[in-house]
Amino acid sequence: SLTSVKPPLTIRLCGPRGFCAGVDRAIQIVVLALKEFGAPVYVRHEIVHNRYVVEGLEAKGAIFVEELDEIPAEHRKQPVVFSAHGVPKSVPADAAGRNLFYLDATCPLVSKVHKQAMRHNRLGRHVVLIGHAGHPEVIGTMGQLPDGAVSLIETVADVEAYEPADPDNLGFVTQTTLSVDDTAGVIKRLHERFPNLTAPAADSICYATTNRQEAVKQAAAGCDLFLIVGAPNSSNSKRLVEVASRAGAKTSLLVQRAAEIDWSQMADVRTVGLSAGASAPEVIVNEIIEAFRARFDARVELADTVEENENFLVNRELRHVPLTTA
Ligand code: SF4
Repeated sequence: SLTSVKPPLTIRLCGPRGFCAGVDRAIQIVVLALKEFGAPVYVRHEIVHNRYVVEGLEAKGAIFVEELDEIPAEHRKQPVVFSAHGVPKSVPADAAGRNLFYLDATCPLVSKVHKQAMRHNRLGRHVVLIGHAGHPEVIGTMGQLPDGAVSLIETVADVEAYEPADPDNLGFVTQTTLSVDDTAGVIKRLHERFPNLTAPAADSICYATTNRQEAVKQAAAGCDLFLIVGAPNSSNSKRLVEVASRAGAKTSLLVQRAAEIDWSQMADVRTVGLSAGASAPEVIVNEIIEAFRARFDARVELADTVEENENFLVNRELRHVPLTTA
């Protein structure tokens, strides 16, 4: 008979991958708020940077807005959730001024960075924030302190150009989702230029970012292609694409859904690395594996590094609400 033989392919599936404890908690907060208070529940900014997650919550009755003034007066009694990335201090203040009931889904590891920045400030230090301009987490961290109290540094070149008013009185913090390797370079240069720089014990890159980058790094060599499930506005996902390339994958790409994959470029691909950013749901990872299985004789090889056990409690107001369905 003329059955076509599918070409062999190995998928190296990285672990840890996908949802972190902060993303899981933020999504739970919206789901629990819908159960407890009924629809609509407003969410300021994408709760996490993933369309699939956002659309799933919209289907349950969440309404996403960018700013609080988009919440209509007749819905003032409904809760508004702040996203996992954190918000400037002006946002809860504005919510209180409008008599809105808000639930803060800021990841506890982002709140910790906020506290470190405030501590530097309280001790009279000018804050250097290492991060990416325009990212909501950076806007939120800068917004913990008055204008001018924080300087944003993105690259080693920024360190070279930086001329602080008081070079002996600086303290730094970092965004949670940066490249571990790039950030080490920036911090090294900061210490060289400003020997009295006050450091926290380490950078503030979170466990989830660190673990996902390390797993990709270990799996990348020998991969013809490395796919990272994630959104173009997801900082930690974009960093995973860079890590895969630097660690030896021939090509690495961000992919949001299986439908985006260009199969015409797969002719010579025999080994595919696969991971997912902290905001990307596992169902899309499975969708991509199935899409490969439809076209290849695909074997999944687990490339696990460490086990993660982090779990963050939801807001006190929601702890009594049972989470029966995900
Ligand atoms: Fe929190 Fe890290 Fe997840 Fe961001 S990536 S939500 S900081 S655990």
